[in-house]
Amino acid sequence: MADPRRRVPGTDRVLDAPDVAAAVSRLGRDLVKQAIHQAQRRARAGLVEPDDVVAETLAALPASASSARRVLNATGVLLHTNLGRAALSDSAVQALHEAAGTTDVELDLHTGRRGPRGAATLRALLDAVPRAEAAHVVNNGAAALVLAATALARGGEIVLARGEMVEIGDGFRIPDLLTSTGARLREVGTTNRVRLDDYRDAVGPDTGFVLKVHPSNFVIEGFTSSVPVSALRGIGVPVVADIGSGLLHPHPVLPAEPDASSTLADGADLVIASGDKLLGGPQAGLLLGRCDLVRRLRRDPLARALRVDKLTLAALEATLRGPATPTERALRRDREHLRHRAEALADALAAAGIPADPQASSATVGGGGAPGVELPSAAVALPEHYAKPLRTGTPAVLARVERGRCLLDLAALPPEDDDVLRRAVLAVA
Ligand SMILES: *Cc1c(COP(=O)(O)O)cnc(C)c1O
Repeated sequence: MADPRRRVPGTDRVLDAPDVAAAVSRLGRDLVKQAIHQAQRRARAGLVEPDDVVAETLAALPASASSARRVLNATGVLLHTNLGRAALSDSAVQALHEAAGTTDVELDLHTGRRGPRGAATLRALLDAVPRAEAAHVVNNGAAALVLAATALARGGEIVLARGEMVEIGDGFRIPDLLTSTGARLREVGTTNRVRLDDYRDAVGPDTGFVLKVHPSNFVIEGFTSSVPVSALRGIGVPVVADIGSGLLHPHPVLPAEPDASSTLADGADLVIASGDKLLGGPQAGLLLGRCDLVRRLRRDPLARALRVDKLTLAALEATLRGPATPTERALRRDREHLRHRAEALADALAAAGIPADPQASSATVGGGGAPGVELPSAAVALPEHYAKPLRTGTPAVLARVERGRCLLDLAALPPEDDDVLRRAVLAVA
């Protein structure tokens, strides 16, 4: 019998197969060739039949040239930083498609001349927050802080309460971000308490601004006092408020969470927020407030390095103008409706012989805001050993492991995905 290794098809022959040729136009030649070479090696080693090299190649190909994979968020954490925080609305996704090619990001199509970059997005922000005289957008909340420190406090001081020296995650700390610009920090108060006089005493000729930072990922309880933005009004220097979450107006479900409009009304001269937390949009840093301050930010050379791309601008505008975001819908989910969904899912899984129980659960907003707030939710409990195969399946499902159970919390998941989730669990079983 002929040596099967001789029958292994050559690379060009595999590339000629119609499905493989289609994959080349989708994924590019290099990725496909890698998969072919691997299939050929396996055939030469006798692990697959030479006739199966084409099928083996196709099976090994990724769905797209990016390795980013869809993950169903069954953690009950609405804004999960490790899952990319806010899921974009369909209208924002549509806007990304439109903007992905060449687009009018910096062109006025009527006059044919260069126009202000992202003008429509800034207009949408100002329409959403009429109290702001001007707006600017950078890459994220941290970039907004760095830009404010650079443009408004270079060579000078930023006055900040010790209780607001926040670590925002992954080891990054707001005080370090601020001092990396060359500005100096003037710390006031203690961890738990600060008074208006502490701020008054600290403000002087070197002060660039007073910074208020919302403790968005922790709560201090007990013998505490802080100074609200409204009390700092008129202190003689700009008051910059980092509200974190990106709510533009008070939210009925999160009454304690600060929002841009109220913070400006309270007297903040500049508000800083993230785009991908409770606003439910793309990663971005929003700066809203006084015209003269925003102009100084825009004119700073650093602004060019923190500039957002056309995709961010497009998705942000669609988030602001479009229908309720997935984040907003998750916040407003009805407890009874969640319970029904959990029961239906548990029933369907139990019918397939999977030990699944519906149970009450509580969800959280996540590092993106509202620390300590628990949102009533519902989950389906599975044996703990389901967690890993769910995480590594397609689509991947991230569950919450709690007290020896694998909980599929439905709060962060749109109802349209219940069926996808059901099939993912069946695939594991
Ligand atoms: C999240 C957060 C930041 C950082 O914003 P990014 O958009 O993640 O860079 C800064 N300040 C506060 C109060 C935050 O909550």
